[in-house]
Amino acid sequence: MDASSDQIRRVIEGLGAFASFGTDPALWETLQRPESCDFVFGNPHDMPQPGYVEALMSAAKPTGPLHYAYTMDLPQAAAAIAQGLTDRFGLGFRAEDVHMTNGNFSGLAMVLRAVADPGDEVVFVSPPWFFYESLIVASGAAPVRVFADRETFDLDLSAIADAITQRTRAIIVNSPNNPSGRIYPRSTLDELARILHDASDRNGRRIYLLSDEAYNRIIFDDREFPTPVAHYHHSFLLYTYAKTLLSPGSRLGYVATPPGMAEAEDLRLPLLVSQIATGWAFPASLLQHAVPELDRLPGNMPALHARRDVLVPALRDQGYDLIEPEGTFYVLVRSPLADDDAFCALLNSHDVYVLPGSTFEMPGWFRISLTASDDMVERAIPGFAKAIAEAAA
Ligand code: PMP
Repeated sequence: MDASSDQIRRVIEGLGAFASFGTDPALWETLQRPESCDFVFGNPHDMPQPGYVEALMSAAKPTGPLHYAYTMDLPQAAAAIAQGLTDRFGLGFRAEDVHMTNGNFSGLAMVLRAVADPGDEVVFVSPPWFFYESLIVASGAAPVRVFADRETFDLDLSAIADAITQRTRAIIVNSPNNPSGRIYPRSTLDELARILHDASDRNGRRIYLLSDEAYNRIIFDDREFPTPVAHYHHSFLLYTYAKTLLSPGSRLGYVATPPGMAEAEDLRLPLLVSQIATGWAFPASLLQHAVPELDRLPGNMPALHARRDVLVPALRDQGYDLIEPEGTFYVLVRSPLADDDAFCALLNSHDVYVLPGSTFEMPGWFRISLTASDDMVERAIPGFAKAIAEAAA
């Protein structure tokens, strides 16, 4: 089944609505006001962490005439990433398993184009990251939505098994999950792998796992993060430095295939062609030269951890029902009013700005980004209290 014209129209309408919300000059102007407490998107409100600018400055110094030449997958960058992945996850990643990207936007676009043929279906989990559906449609495949368990926000494995058809080519899984903050446990990943193996055997055609790991270094409480890729080798690990390094405008990431992936050799050329056809989805040479340094930077976990540990108990004390995140920098909160837009407007009247759940398929909820500054967190707490009291009145 191709993406139907109805699906395409719905996706375009949804994107249009999101784009006009996300780019609304009035919203941006409001968020810039000194009294505004901005929890809306994952944009940084602190200066870059130590080491970040230094890495870019030293990468800017040319090492030879080719320093700024057309750069595909820069071998030093790929080698540093492969080593970093092997140190964390084992699996023995090699430089040739790493494909540089402009972040997970282009990583997803490129892998979907490389694996999906017209008429294929790609499963994604709702609540999703906003752009999965549109990236699937843009690749020519048909998106198939499966809901996460609405109590635990874990993967609903039987719903996934039921959604798989003969045309299923891939599934996108995001752990730690935006917006729920859930890290899928090993037992879930084992069962998911069994479902995907069985269905691939039944279909006589491989179903791939696109493992969106944008937040795989933003883990709370020293928890373990099991990469889904270790459980199912027919996978693509998609990473972006945007979140860990709080630099979403820098556009740097990669796709890596585990060495155990039998098809990796055959996929290398389709991936490269797709990387080019997606519009030169290679990061700027300057960023690639900085990767060996950037990949070693730890991110600012202490700040995110401290903010979570201030906000979560404060909001619970005020009567909010919320999901305490295991990873990511988001907190998912149930809106005290069924109409999340109306409740967000109440929060706005107290200078607190959050993302309404209706923008990410979760009406009745809202999402807080812990990328707000400590000062915003402190100033927002009384605003959250007033809004929930007004909603109850
Ligand atoms: N996947 C998820 C789950 C995300 O949250 C984001 C960023 N919000 C992306 C992909 C896109 O990452 P980038 O902007 O670095 O391409």
